[in-house]
Amino acid sequence: FHVPPAVNEPIKSYAPGTPERDEVLKMYKELYNQKIDVPLYIGDQEIRTNNTRNINPPHDHQHCVGTFHTAEKKHIEQAISTALEARKKWSQLAWEQRAAIFLKAADLIAGPYRAKINAATMIGQSKNIFQAEIDSACEIIDFLRFNVEYMTQMYDEQPESDEHAWNRVEYRPLEGFVYAITPFNFTAIAGNLPSSAAMMGNVVVWKPSATQMFSAQVLMEVFQEAGVPNGVINMVMGDAQMITETVLASPDFAGVHFTGSTGVFNSIWSKIGQNIGNYKTYPRIVGETGGKDFIVAHPSANSKEVSTAIARGAFEFQGQKCSAASRMYIPKSMWPSVKAELEADLKSFKMGSPEDMSNFINAVIDEKSFDKLASYIDRAKNDTDAEVIMGGNYDKSKGWFIEPTVILTSNPKYVTMETELFGPVATIYVYEDDKWEEMLNLVDTTSEYALTGAIFSKDRYAAEQATKALENAAGNFYINDKCTGAVVGRQPFGGARASGTNDKAGSKLNLMRWVSVRLIKETF
Ligand code: GLU
Repeated sequence: FHVPPAVNEPIKSYAPGTPERDEVLKMYKELYNQKIDVPLYIGDQEIRTNNTRNINPPHDHQHCVGTFHTAEKKHIEQAISTALEARKKWSQLAWEQRAAIFLKAADLIAGPYRAKINAATMIGQSKNIFQAEIDSACEIIDFLRFNVEYMTQMYDEQPESDEHAWNRVEYRPLEGFVYAITPFNFTAIAGNLPSSAAMMGNVVVWKPSATQMFSAQVLMEVFQEAGVPNGVINMVMGDAQMITETVLASPDFAGVHFTGSTGVFNSIWSKIGQNIGNYKTYPRIVGETGGKDFIVAHPSANSKEVSTAIARGAFEFQGQKCSAASRMYIPKSMWPSVKAELEADLKSFKMGSPEDMSNFINAVIDEKSFDKLASYIDRAKNDTDAEVIMGGNYDKSKGWFIEPTVILTSNPKYVTMETELFGPVATIYVYEDDKWEEMLNLVDTTSEYALTGAIFSKDRYAAEQATKALENAAGNFYINDKCTGAVVGRQPFGGARASGTNDKAGSKLNLMRWVSVRLIKETF
């Protein structure tokens, strides 16, 4: 199997004076004032219903950049039957054809669609260009190219045969359709979840997040232009509960590819359990859910490396990453320097619209998120075992702006050390230098999640000790690096415990979940 080699898409700089900067800014302005209208995509139809919702940039919530149409139950049923009809041909198509389609999609994003998908992500999800480029350009491109390569490696794996018995396996798509549910925070995840299942020969009903509709539509355009046949990926949105219930009631439901909250994933899992006797096949359940990710510093660590990891890990994209650093454990001897360095970093962060590229911090996604974050900040201002030591202001007059905020707590089990906030609010606990081992135990037992975590240490024994003590505490464990920013093809991504099924995104392990293997033994 020879496919074009997968290499990570180089990240463009967007420095002043570069052509990519001018191009994306021009596109941003154009899209900002042009009303988009996002239909449901079912088969060859673009369906416009009687119900629409507005799309508002989080940093300018009174401005409307367009609308999207919401589905009724009959549309979801139509999406399922259309997908199953498309399956008849798609599931039989040679893998080379499928590979070519998704490699073409990667090239379209790398070239003609790059500015558009980045601008749509900046406007719709309030992401600065540097974070958008990593997500809505490079990471999607990498997912598509590496998954094609993993697919071929997988197909290549065959059992041993004997002289008179030929054993071979077929990596068949699942019998039915796959349901993809994607979150607002990564356009790349919205691109990956439907495409990875489709690549393996499956048909998909895809429900993007209501707060990601702008870039979701660009993805749909890319899939269509790349040649994904009608009905293979169908995009539907609206009342999430109704959509999920309708999908899970179908006997042809064959799997869910999910990224979102632990609570929603749990309810999907329970519904699947309730319906289990009705399905033709046991559905695959693949989910990446919440996180409460840590940075641990050993006294031997370099304080500047630690503070940079906190500044970037906790506040890039307003902390709206499942992987974001949100609980920190810093030794007392190091705290004064980490504090001073972090304060300097936070002072240098400008907050505002992504259109001004000097703004590092943009708005959080919506009012619900804003209110939740503001309430935890207020609570920390009043609680006796916590103190807001940096930031702490918020303002929703124009956009959902929350200042990067650091809470210092004397209680290692303080509520913001345990609860996922999904925003630019980080909590720090300072431990006594000689309590390193107790502290590792605290890290392991404080949160129900196990997505990402980082430990900083120059002392090899301590690094080894932490790696062992925290072996179940993070699916992605970083030594001397921040806990965000996994790169496809380098660090497959996913967590365990309440963080998901750990079927690493961007890996063969994940693609394996979307096939039903047939073994054929033939004797002569
Ligand atoms: N893969 C991303 C990272 O490593 C996080 C994805 C997420 O937030 O779900 O930062």
